[in-house]
Amino acid sequence: MLYKQEMASLNSVPRLRFAPSPTGGLHIGTARTALFNWIAAKSMGGKLILRIEDTDIKRSTREYEALIIEDLKWLGIGWDEFYRQSERIGIYQKVAERLLEERKAYRCFCSPQRLSDLRDTLLRQGKVPKYDGKCRYLTQEEIKKKLEQKQKFVIRFVVENEERIGDIEFNDLIRGVIRFSPEAFGDFIIIKSDGTPSYNFAVVVDDSDMKITHVLRGEDHITNTARQLLLFKALGYKIPYFAHFSMILARDGSKLSKRHGATTISEFREMGYLSEAIVNYLSILSWNPMGEEEIFALQDVVDEFRFQDISKSPAIFDIDKLNWINGIYIRKKTCEELFELCTPFLIKSGIIGEKELENEKVIAKIKKCIDAFKDNLKVLGEFPDRVRDFFSDKIDSYEDSATEVLKAESSLKVVVKFMDLLKRKLSSLAGDKSVDLTEEEGKNIIKSVADELKNDKIKGKALYMPIRASITGKTHGPELPKVIAILGIEDCIKRVEQTLTYLNNL
Ligand code: GLU
Repeated sequence: MLYKQEMASLNSVPRLRFAPSPTGGLHIGTARTALFNWIAAKSMGGKLILRIEDTDIKRSTREYEALIIEDLKWLGIGWDEFYRQSERIGIYQKVAERLLEERKAYRCFCSPQRLSDLRDTLLRQGKVPKYDGKCRYLTQEEIKKKLEQKQKFVIRFVVENEERIGDIEFNDLIRGVIRFSPEAFGDFIIIKSDGTPSYNFAVVVDDSDMKITHVLRGEDHITNTARQLLLFKALGYKIPYFAHFSMILARDGSKLSKRHGATTISEFREMGYLSEAIVNYLSILSWNPMGEEEIFALQDVVDEFRFQDISKSPAIFDIDKLNWINGIYIRKKTCEELFELCTPFLIKSGIIGEKELENEKVIAKIKKCIDAFKDNLKVLGEFPDRVRDFFSDKIDSYEDSATEVLKAESSLKVVVKFMDLLKRKLSSLAGDKSVDLTEEEGKNIIKSVADELKNDKIKGKALYMPIRASITGKTHGPELPKVIAILGIEDCIKRVEQTLTYLNNL
């Protein structure tokens, strides 16, 4: 097993890192990278380092950093060490100085205009646009003069030098051997004109400083890996293992983007996906050594994890599959857990106010709604719309189908009998309207209506439909005894009264 051999030669505690750029929220693809770094670290008894790559000062914000951290925590991904690249600028500059001294890097004073002209010319000639190395040959005097004139400069790394002739090669733990010709790259920038490091440079310095043993990231970084290998070698650093995930694509095969719907973890959270479902889905998205099994605990993934089991082909993001998995996890939750999870959605949609959560009756009603609806929920965000009607003090409108049912000759008899039994139940409660009805009591009331109408031969649909329509204005919904229990005795009576008035006025 490749991985075992590698571990034997590693001889140290595995150290992995998740290195997000805080230029946006935590994207589903980036979340997968975070998750699998965490899983890999756990599976090898190693450490996970969270490194915020915020050297792009124009696009990085602390708000995005906070959002990423919130999302990681929500997903249950923890870390052992934390770094911010913006706090390490001096370190990168020192390493760049060393490369300058060793002539493995040089100051480049070329103007943006010259670089863009060069690029245009090379493109026109059908060549790869890359820096031509002009400033590599500046004399010490020329450099001194330009520095005195305060000319702006970047620091470039010398790519093609005699010691490093030959292909750049690495053994990707997922993809096998990957080879690049250094010809493909020009001398790339390691320090920008504002003194901040380029991505490739900061990553190499950090991966070495932080003793990273395994770099697991998206395949969009494969060409960066080639550049980084050159830097690792030039600096004499120990090279980590590399593994590159394939991309997550939309169902139409294009790159997953906004137009395909939610793409960040916080968006999914706000829609009412459970973190366990997201984690499970991300796990099966690019890795499935569990055969046909698709629902499994995170610990199973940790126990079974091997780099080479990560799929090489692109993963297709399938929202229906995620919804299916989310539904399964919703149903795994207890009523109490779902109560905690669902109430923020009810408050956000304005169905209940925060204060009402102190009211026993409201609490009981929410729990009954959860019990009635949880089997059909895909995301928690659907919950408010499903239950809205039950929180209104009257029937807001009657569907045409419900009106049809209520107009049937036998229906009035049913509704009147139902009202009669509700009132009898109420008086048996000694007028205590605060007492809640249970589903069982709801069932008993319906049964009593049926018993008392036996002689009229009213049963089945002709019995249930008018009862349902008389308290909801609809002909469909959760099981009728549950509906009666959710509304409670007082609301059922009020609604039947409303329906009788409505029928009178038809
Ligand atoms: N900051 C880079 C990104 O967000 C990290 C790449 C890496 O893992 O080296 O894509």
